[in-house]
Amino acid sequence: MSKGIIVVDMPERCNQCKFWFAKATVPIEYRCMGLQKEITEKNLTEEKPDWCPIKEAPIKLE
Ligand code: SF4
Repeated sequence: MSKGIIVVDMPERCNQCKFWFAKATVPIEYRCMGLQKEITEKNLTEEKPDWCPIKEAPIKLE
């Protein structure tokens, strides 16, 4: 299958991103919609995970 691109501002942590959500569970579970994986509170508030699918664009995009 070929690959596609969505252009977004580069987040430093997940709570700056449009692709995180919180599941209504106890305890609450945070997830990345991009890869359908769990993210931690540290990912949410301090730094995104290493496996984040958002990569720096090789050229400047507007
Ligand atoms: S892992 Fe990356 S794409 Fe997923 S919610 Fe965090 S910043 Fe967004």
